[in-house]
Formats: sequence, structure tokens, C-alpha cells
Amino acid sequence: MFKALVVEKDEDGTTRAAVQELSEDRLPEAEVTVDVEYSTLNYKDGLCIGPGGGLVRSYPHVPGIDFAGTVAASDDPRYAPGDKVVLTGWRVGEAHWGGYSQKARVRADWLVPLPEGLTTRDAMAVGTAGLTAMLAIMALEDHGLEPGRGEVLVTGASGGVGSVATAILSHLGYEVAAVTGRPENEAYLKALGASRLVPREDLAETVKRPLESETWAGCIDAVGGAMLARVLGQMKHGASVAAVGLAGGAHLPATVIPFLLRGVNLLGIDSVTQPYAKRVEAWRRISSDLPMDRLEGMIRPAVLEELPELGADILKGRVKGRVVVDVA
Ligand code: NDP
Repeated sequence: MFKALVVEKDEDGTTRAAVQELSEDRLPEAEVTVDVEYSTLNYKDGLCIGPGGGLVRSYPHVPGIDFAGTVAASDDPRYAPGDKVVLTGWRVGEAHWGGYSQKARVRADWLVPLPEGLTTRDAMAVGTAGLTAMLAIMALEDHGLEPGRGEVLVTGASGGVGSVATAILSHLGYEVAAVTGRPENEAYLKALGASRLVPREDLAETVKRPLESETWAGCIDAVGGAMLARVLGQMKHGASVAAVGLAGGAHLPATVIPFLLRGVNLLGIDSVTQPYAKRVEAWRRISSDLPMDRLEGMIRPAVLEELPELGADILKGRVKGRVVVDVA
């Protein structure tokens, strides 16, 4: 028997999440069984613990879109009992049973071996948000970003993606301008490596002039909406923006002028269906380029029993830092 957070749906459509004892025969069919050690909390998890947000395929459901742990059994030659593994994406925790469980059973293709130098707890302090930040940095590098070309803008800097992006970029030698709506987070963002803060209001207005002065050598944008539109007109010639999120909205009220007159690139980042080699490379880069001690201060430890409340909190924007769930 093992513990898992199980969400059930009543006939009237309301959902209830509670920790239950399950037996192994409840696990789905797949090649690799993992003893989960840590998971984390993302906005999507808040939806899947609560109302579902159209993501959950069937009930009862075990949420948790990412996890790290040790292989307990494997029908796939790539994994053996005792191997440390990490999982993000592939709609685990949404369409498939997820990581808020002491045991998970998943397809071997979805796993990545944990790189040297990272613990399972480190991996979940990074989580899907941090992996996405790394993928965004790799995309910017592929399009010519290198230190010494000017400031790199990170929007939604106090969030999961923004915080990890700030820490990695600064470690790599970039000057990071961190956009935040929370000036009280100045010390936190500077400790992560931000060189300066940009108040959210400075970029909140919609585009009035399609081109403003060339300011940013690159941008990791977790906000979208009017802010992304505004930033496009402030990019240096030939520079790229990695579009990661929509914390400020999905609508993009922009013009094409920055693409035509400045050769600006808009790069889309999808962490969910990245090929295996790209995920392995991103985790390798995280282990070498992310100073874990900078993340330690932003960790909020949690256990499975706290997740119904934390899930509701994240949907209301009340969670700060990275929630690391000790599942074992
Ligand atoms: P968080 O909720 O942790 O952070 C988002 C941050 O954006 C907040 O901390 C806040 O930063 C800022 N923000 C919030 N609301 C607004 C607003 N209305 N206008 C401007 N800024 C705002 O989320 P994550 O960092 O985990 O994720 C960021 C985005 O990336 C989300 O939209 C998420 O869905 C998406 N995402 C996409 C992935 C992909 O594969 N493409 C994977 C993971 C996440 P501050 O207080 O500093 O201003």
C-alpha cells in the first residue's frame, strides 16, 4: 500500500481531493514504476487538484505534473531498479496519473535520468518551471545570445520560471533586468542575480509606438499580453524573445514592425513535448549552470496533505517561491 492524493468528482461536478491509501493494482499500465520522492506545485497542478480546468481526462485522478524519484521496477532496458529519474511534461498529472503519489507508473520515454550533481529534491526545486527557463535560455543561445551584448530582460521575475531564469542567466555572466510588480521582492531578486529591477508599470501600457529605443539583448517572457507586445518594440536589432507564459494574458496586441525593421525573433517555448535528447541536455545544463544554493531560500517545503489548500492558493496567486513536496 502507498499514499497518494486522489481527486474524485461528484455527480454534480464538484471535485474533492484527499490523501488515500492505494494498492499497486490501482497504478496504470506502463513500463516503469517509480518510488516518488519529491514533486512540486505548478499553476496547472492547482487546476488539476481543484476544478480540473479541462485538463483532467477521467476521475478518480492523481495530480502532480512533475516528480523525481527512484526506479522500483522496469520493463524497459533503459532503466533498472535503483536509477534516479525525473519526469516533466507529457500530460502526466493531467491526462495520466501523476506525481502526488508515493508510487507512479509511467512510460520509459517520458523519463530522464537524473544528472550527476542533482538530488531528487534539487530536481523538484527546479521543476517544470526551471526546466522551461533552461529551455528558453538554450533557445536564445541558439539564436545568438551571448554575454556582453547588453541586458537580458526577464518578465514575471518573482515567479518560478522568472526566478530560475534570473539565477541561471546571472551565473552565465549576463546582466539581468528583472520585471516585477512586487518591489518588496528587490532583495530576493538581487540575491538571485538580477542587476536591476524594472517596475511592471513601466511595461504595462499597450504599444503606442511600434519601435522604441533598442534596449534588450534578449528576453525571457513569462507574462505575454500587452507586456510582450511592448517588449518586442524595445529589442535590439536581431535579438530574440523566448515566449514562455501568459501570466498577464494570452492576447498579443502587437505590430509586425519589430520583425520587419529590426529582425527581432519571437521564439515559442513548449516544455511538455520536448524530445528526449533536448530534455537530457536541459537537465545537464541545469546541473552545471544553476547555482542551487541561490534557490534554497525560495523553497517552501510541503507534504501531500497540504496540497488541497496549496492548490487553491496557487490559483489565487498566493504562493511565493517554489513549493517542494516531500512525497516519500
Ligand atoms: P508563477 O505564477 O510562479 O509566476 C508568474 C509571475 O508573473 C508572477 O510571479 C508575477 O511576477 C508575474 N505576473 C503575475 N500576474 C501578472 C500580470 N497580470 N501582469 C504581469 N505580470 C504578472 O508562474 P510560473 O513562473 O510557474 O509560470 C509563468 C508562466 O509560464 C505561466 O503562464 C505558466 O503557465 C507558463 N509556463 C509555461 C510552460 C511552457 O511549457 N511554455 C511551462 C511552465 C510554465 P512578479 O510578481 O515578479 O511581477
